[in-house]
Amino acid sequence: MRKKELQIFVYEYDTVLELPERDQKLIFAAREASENAYAPYSKFYVGAALMLENGLIIKGNNQENADFTDGICAERVALFYANANYPNAKVEAMAVTAKNSNGLIKDPSKPCGSCRQAIVEAEARFKHPIRLILDGAKKIMVVENAESLLPFAFKPDALG
Ligand SMILES: [Zn+2]
Repeated sequence: MRKKELQIFVYEYDTVLELPERDQKLIFAAREASENAYAPYSKFYVGAALMLENGLIIKGNNQENADFTDGICAERVALFYANANYPNAKVEAMAVTAKNSNGLIKDPSKPCGSCRQAIVEAEARFKHPIRLILDGAKKIMVVENAESLLPFAFKPDALG
């Protein structure tokens, strides 16, 4: 038996202004996107914004449905829109934010498992890491790639 340790690097910032300007821009775009979330059931308004290699910013927000299982997260709305309309453009980074009736949530917003899987797929597709910028009122977390949030991810090469 071998016991192995996995290591991930997480960068934490106390305020948006500590981040590089390009990341600040993405956070503000994500916050703007959260304003248009359709979340009448959860009242949890999520915004995502991603930066393509061509400098374009693509925004998405959560889209809920009375049949709860038919809703989709902000991250996948943004990512699938980007992949559908700019299929050859690498995704460089994605910012995620969320608010409720009290405003911006305290802890950094982390993508759900399904979104992590979709973002890892985009990393594999473009052979390029996607920096994740997770916005929160208390702090902002940055990880270097989605795979660090989904160790042992199911990736295209698993299909053989
Ligand atoms: Zn999700």
